Amino acid sequence: MFAIPDLLTLIISAEQRDLLQQALADAVCYRDPPAVCETCPEPSNPYEAPGDLCDECGARFARASAYLSLGRELGAKADAER
Ligand SMILES: [Zn+2]
Repeated sequence: MFAIPDLLTLIISAEQRDLLQQALADAVCYRDPPAVCETCPEPSNPYEAPGDLCDECGARFARASAYLSLGRELGAKADAER
């Protein structure tokens, strides 16, 4: 096994990039905290009150936000190269 370097440059086609962005969008939906959570203090909508989430929903929201940022970064970089 070889080690993957910390900084990695990938050359992918536009179609692969689009697919990657779609996969990230799916992942954001999957990780998004549920609209109704029994454990969360009210309100459970992280977009209204990001601080009022239970630990699990907070972790899910952080992961979803990271996926969203990465997707935006991929799109922004691709647009900059056009
Ligand atoms: Zn919750």
